Amino acid sequence: MRRFQKYKLVAAVLGVLATSGPVLWFVTWLQKQGEAEVSITANWSVGIADLYIGQALVALNDLAARGVDSCKPAHLDALRQSLFVSPPIKELAVIGPNGQVQCTDVGTTFPRREIVASAATSNPDIMLDVVNLVDRGERMLRVRRLAAKGKPALAASLSPSLLLPQIGPEGGPFPGTARMTLADGTVIGTVTGADSGGDDQIVGRQRSERFGPIVTVTMARHGVVANYDDLRRIGMVVTGLIAFVILMCAVIVPLRQRQNPMHEIERALAADEFVPYYQPIVDITSGAVLGAEVLVRWRKPDGTVVGPGAFIPLMESTGLIIDLTRSLMRRVCEEAGPTLGRRPGMYVAFNIAPRHFENSIILNDVGSIFEGSRIRLSQLVLEVTERYQIDDLAATRRVIAALQALGCRVAMDDVGTGHNGLSHILKLGVDIIKIDKMFVDAIGTERHSQTIVATLVDLARNLRMQIVAEGVENFEQVVYLREHGISSVQGFVFAPPLPGSAFLQLVAAVDPMALEGTERAAATPPQAHSGAGRVAAA
Ligand code: C2E
Ligand code: CA
Ligand code: CA
Repeated sequence: MRRFQKYKLVAAVLGVLATSGPVLWFVTWLQKQGEAEVSITANWSVGIADLYIGQALVALNDLAARGVDSCKPAHLDALRQSLFVSPPIKELAVIGPNGQVQCTDVGTTFPRREIVASAATSNPDIMLDVVNLVDRGERMLRVRRLAAKGKPALAASLSPSLLLPQIGPEGGPFPGTARMTLADGTVIGTVTGADSGGDDQIVGRQRSERFGPIVTVTMARHGVVANYDDLRRIGMVVTGLIAFVILMCAVIVPLRQRQNPMHEIERALAADEFVPYYQPIVDITSGAVLGAEVLVRWRKPDGTVVGPGAFIPLMESTGLIIDLTRSLMRRVCEEAGPTLGRRPGMYVAFNIAPRHFENSIILNDVGSIFEGSRIRLSQLVLEVTERYQIDDLAATRRVIAALQALGCRVAMDDVGTGHNGLSHILKLGVDIIKIDKMFVDAIGTERHSQTIVATLVDLARNLRMQIVAEGVENFEQVVYLREHGISSVQGFVFAPPLPGSAFLQLVAAVDPMALEGTERAAATPPQAHSGAGRVAAA
């Protein structure tokens, strides 16, 4: 649970990190789009102002060059002609040395005006005046060409509305506010378009290097970027989806890995969590311990012990069973080697998966693992189950013969539960047959299958095979089996599968002579008594 929480936390952090990238990028991109658009608008406005002020200057210079400096009719004509060819100019005027307008292109009668402010430009020949036409409530930007002292000057007025943006980037009315000012802040003109409200505003400012006016443009973000709101919504949805996918991946992948039992089993195998338990096999005619069957247990780090039913089928289907068997064999060599080495009459049985028999893998493994071990090959019994169909009977027969040539014995496990048929099994030439618990359970009941047990006993005798009865749980069964000539028994009536230390203690207790170092003679079959300790139960 704690690990799951940790995964979730890591997943969340990963998700946030992985998503904040695209989100930030998208937001910045959208923001930049807006800012670029606003600064382009301000730039454009300053450019237009520079252009028109420049045109006014050209017109004024031209008039001055032609000697226009009075209000006489010829000069007024010249003013009118000049105005005609310079459309941006709204008015041309002659200004007396006192600074008062003497006449304009319309003559000596012209709208009343007052100068609000004046500013120098980078061109020493001209000044900019902000002029109010008092009666019309209009404001103009006047470009005044300076004249020699005491001489009349010429001036050209421009309408501020001409210098400021009137339409938006997408056409339509300008969606914001644009203001042109002198450096001192005096407003030359303002355009306030539709939709200039809203709280997400972008501001851009640009100053004319040549003439000095400053243009400040303020636009609502959604007015700047076409479909800004749609884009933002789409962006948020897309980044939200990416975030969700990343988050789900980060949560589900570790979770699935955790839930994947194979992953967990592989880890446990590498961590040596699979341990051998030993179930004693007892001779019920003498009470001697003949040996043990190794039955695997998964001892988890938290102390819980899991039985083979929970993982053996999975390991069999993936082939991991072979590694498990090798690991168990090595552990048994290490753990039980000394005890069994001193008791060559005792044997140890391993359950071998069918696929371990393929390509003679088992032969190589038995050779390499038990070579140099205290446990002799003659003490090994390899159990092959009858539960599965044996496809290649001939090949299996060859492997069994090779194992027997090494000195090992082979047991047919779960006899009577599979679909191979007794005659088939017999062709394999095994040394031992293990009667399944199912038939032992039937002893003393209605289902009592005396015939099966009797048949197997007869067969075993004829073919010189030994019989081990499995899953013996009570004395009635013990008595019955003994009466029917079965002497090797494995079951809870004597002992369940025991951890290594308990099994070794049991062996030492029932066979103390070997502890004193008495080496026994060569291997003896499970039904022979020499070299085996005795248990009291039988
Ligand atoms: P199996 O080879 O038939 O082993 C005998 C099973 O019967 C064992 O179950 C054992 O604990 C149980 N048993 C023994 N005496 C009694 C009894 O008196 N009463 C009852 N109710 N049960 C008894 P376990 O240990 O759960 O093993 C189950 C199966 O898992 C084994 O059946 C075997 O087929 C497989 N298995 C166990 N260890 C290994 C292994 O290392 N390799 C392979 N390939 N299979 C294994
Ligand atoms: Ca078995
Ligand atoms: Ca069995």
